[in-house]
Formats: sequence, C-alpha cells, structure tokens
Amino acid sequence: MEDTSDDIVVATGNEEFNKKVKDAYKKVKGVDKLAAEQIINDIVVQGDEVYWSDIAGLEAAKSSLKETVVYPFLRPDLFRGLREPARGMLLFGPPGTGKTMLARAVATESHSTFFSISASSLTSKYLGESEKLVRALFALAKELAPSIIFVDEIDSLLSTRNNSGEHEATRRIKNEFLVKWSDLQHAAAGRDKDDDDARRVLVLAATNLPWAIDEAARRRFVRRQYIPLPERETRRAQIEKLMGHQHKSLSDEDIERILDLTDGFSGSDLTALAKDAAMGPLRELGEALLSTPRDEIRPINIDDFVASLQYIRPSVSKDGLERYEEWAAKYGSSG
Ligand code: ADP
Repeated sequence: MEDTSDDIVVATGNEEFNKKVKDAYKKVKGVDKLAAEQIINDIVVQGDEVYWSDIAGLEAAKSSLKETVVYPFLRPDLFRGLREPARGMLLFGPPGTGKTMLARAVATESHSTFFSISASSLTSKYLGESEKLVRALFALAKELAPSIIFVDEIDSLLSTRNNSGEHEATRRIKNEFLVKWSDLQHAAAGRDKDDDDARRVLVLAATNLPWAIDEAARRRFVRRQYIPLPERETRRAQIEKLMGHQHKSLSDEDIERILDLTDGFSGSDLTALAKDAAMGPLRELGEALLSTPRDEIRPINIDDFVASLQYIRPSVSKDGLERYEEWAAKYGSSG
C-alpha cells in the first residue's frame, strides 16, 4: 500500500524550504511517501551554489542556457507562443568540461529548485523503486517550480541498449521517465493557467557518450549543446582563478608555458594539475613540513607545474575528441 497520508520527513537544514516541501507533498497526488523523501533528501541540492562567474569560458553555452532557461524562468510572461522555450536540453562533451557546473549555475541564476540525479544510480541504487522515484521526481518538480531536473549520465537511462529487453527493469524506468517528461511537455503546451508550473520545469541532461542515446530520445532534446574542451583563453581564466589566492611565483611567460603544455586538458584535468602543483612546495619539505612556519614555505612555481605534468595527463585522447566533434557537427545545436 502506498502511504500518502502523513507529513514527509525532510531534513535539508533549511527550515523555510522544509516547510515548502511539506506543503508541496500535500498537494501532489499518488506519490509514494518514501520516494518523495528520497527525492527531497538525496536529490534536491541545497546550498553550495555555483554562479556564472565561477565557470571559466563556455560563453556560447552560457548564453544559450540564459536564453533557453534562465530568462524564460524569470520572465515567463515574455516567453509564450513562438517564444515557448524548450523543455529539454542536452549538454554533451568530454568528461570534466563543466557540464555539471553549468547545470548548477542555471539553477542558482534562475532561482530554481535543483533536482540532481545520476541516471546510473537511478538504474542501480534505486532499482525496483525507480519508477516510483521518477513519478515523485516529476510531481515534486512541478509543485516546486521553477525547477531544473538535472540528469547526469543520461546515456545510461536512454541508451539504445535498453530497448533490447535485456534489462527489463531499466526499460521500465526509461519508459516511465519518457512518459512523465511527455506529460510535462503536453501540460506546458496547454493554455491553462494551471499549466504555468509545468512551463517552469526543465529537464537538463548531461552525457559523455551522446552517441549511446537512442534516436527517439535524442530528438526530444530540442537543444543539444556541445561543451568542448577549454580553449587557451578559457584555460588561462581557469588557471588564474585557481592560482588567485595562492602564494606563487609565476611570470607571464610561465603562464604562457603552462597554457602551451595543457592543450587538450579538460577543466577537471586543469584543476587536478593545479592542485598537484600546489603540493610541490610541501612535498620537497618531507617531514620538515610539520615544523616549518607557514610564511617560510616557498611559493608555487613553474617547476612544480612541469613536475606535475609528468603524471597529470589529459583524460581525453585526440581520437576520443574527434568523435565528439563529429557528433556535434551532425546533431549539435549551433551557437
Ligand atoms: P562534467 O560534468 O562536464 O564532467 P564538471 O562540471 O563536474 O564536469 O567539472 C568537474 C570539475 O572540473 C569542476 O568541479 C571544476 O573544478 C572543474 N571545471 C571543469 N570545467 C570548468 C570550467 N569551465 N571552469 C571552472 N572549473 C571547471
């Protein structure tokens, strides 16, 4: 028996939000209580916000997300009819290029409730409960609109492989997800005032394996935004940000050298590199680290970067990259 009677237990640490969620739960119908609790406590992201300014580069992606999500969420009255925004957007590209950060920034900047779910956990961790979870997810997202439903690793949910029947349970979750998403799209297309909430729910999905998504599912993402490896200037901005508050000795030439040497690095590769280089001055102290006063520790320099580059290598190969470029040319949205 589904228990939909009582208050749900929410412990997000934000009293105002807890109350809002409890009220929302009372309004949604046919939603499993445990599933609703799981959604709110595991899947809604609170605090630790990401802003546009935290993300280096990716200007094309940022403006596309502003136009498709942020502005329509903030000014729904302007985005009707022909200007009706898409209900789904796909971010694809190599791993570690800022897709998750972008999704989080969209939620912050559009003042939305942010539901973040990894499709692989949906099909493994929650298997069995997943259909209920999907139902609760969409119902609560609508009730707590504006909402962003961010699905990471969407390929594991919507891949062609799932059609073959080998994973019956996964196929059922996929169907439930597509049905609930369609319902949302239909409601949003309606003229009813009651459907305003549906207009302010967007499925934002990310994948490192765009070619694994089946064709029907792919077509539902009206916008497919390529998130490429960072260009030189983006890498510069990121390195400057990472090194901003550090005790360092890096000349302009040193920075140029780092940029020369990090062609092909993703954003997360760069972060890993800077973190490793920052350990350089401590590493060479050995045990003396424990007794050295902080102000006697030498600054981070170019040699630390060069040393770290010996083992921090780009995680995407040239061949791997070509595959993304080809897929982007064929199926990506321009801009
Ligand atoms: P993805 O979702 O594309 O795999 P993430 O958004 O999770 O990548 O990024 C992983 C980490 O790499 C981030 O937490 C951040 O430290 C760093 N990073 C990646 N891209 C950027 C960027 N454009 N600007 C700043 N940091 C970035």
